[in-house]
This record gives sequence, structure tokens and C-alpha cells, in this order.
Amino acid sequence: MSPALPLTGGCLCGAVRYTVSEVARETCTCHCRMCQKQSGAPFMGFVTAERQALSLSGEVRRYRSSGFATRGFCPICGSALTFEYDHEPALVGLTVGTLDDPEAAPPTLHWGVESQLSWLKLADGLPHRTTEEDEAFQAAIRKAASPS
Ligand SMILES: [Zn+2]
Ligand SMILES: [Zn+2]
Repeated sequence: MSPALPLTGGCLCGAVRYTVSEVARETCTCHCRMCQKQSGAPFMGFVTAERQALSLSGEVRRYRSSGFATRGFCPICGSALTFEYDHEPALVGLTVGTLDDPEAAPPTLHWGVESQLSWLKLADGLPHRTTEEDEAFQAAIRKAASPS
């Protein structure tokens, strides 16, 4: 199910605001350790937009969290806002928690579930996938590890 558009959102303090007019990929959660560390939460949710369909105001500071991705956050309040893979330069992930209506973009997949916390029970019937099972992701990190 695709969310009703446009999607609007912003950080906790309101210095950063954004609007998404086109969604490129359905929402997924990520349970990886980096998402846990960055958010301070058990997992994060992302809705992925076409970069050209994203309009954003305010300063987003970027942190290179790995050899293949960058995470954006508000330098004032620290809200995690964006996620960008180097191998998908036309796409930007936006954190579901920063949407004005987080209910507008429910997940269709749980990802990175090898790091899912043992006490977190998700009985929603959605597919669960480990990072190992994601071929495109594995190819991207192999490429980042050995640039030719
Ligand atoms: Zn802020
Ligand atoms: Zn993650």
C-alpha cells in the first residue's frame, strides 16, 4: 500500500521541514545496530523518496555512518532525518518517526532482523529479512569494501 501523498514531516525542534511528493519504495523498518545507535530506539522506519520529489528546508548535517551510507540529522535537536546509500544516489530515505503523520507510511518489511531485540515481538505477518538475505545490499557493501 502506497502512502497518501504528499508526505510532510520535520525534526523535533521544527528547524528542518520536508515534503515528499513521490515515494520510490514502500516503508521498511531497520533493526540494524547502526539504526539502534543513531536513534537510541529498538529500530527505525524509513520511507524512501525520489530525491527530485523531496523538498527540504533547514540545515541537515550529514554523518558518514559506513563506507556505503550517510545519515542526516538536525544539528539543533538531533532528530535523525535522512538515510542515503551511495549506490542509490537518486533516492533518499526519510525516517518514519519524523513524519507529521507516522501512521501514513506503515511498514511492508522488517529488515536487518538479525539484530532485532529478543524482547521485541512483531506479530504483524510482514516479511522479515536479514541483511545477509538482501542481494542488492550485499553487492553494494562488497563494492564499497573494494572500490576498483
Ligand atoms: Zn531540529
Ligand atoms: Zn539500519
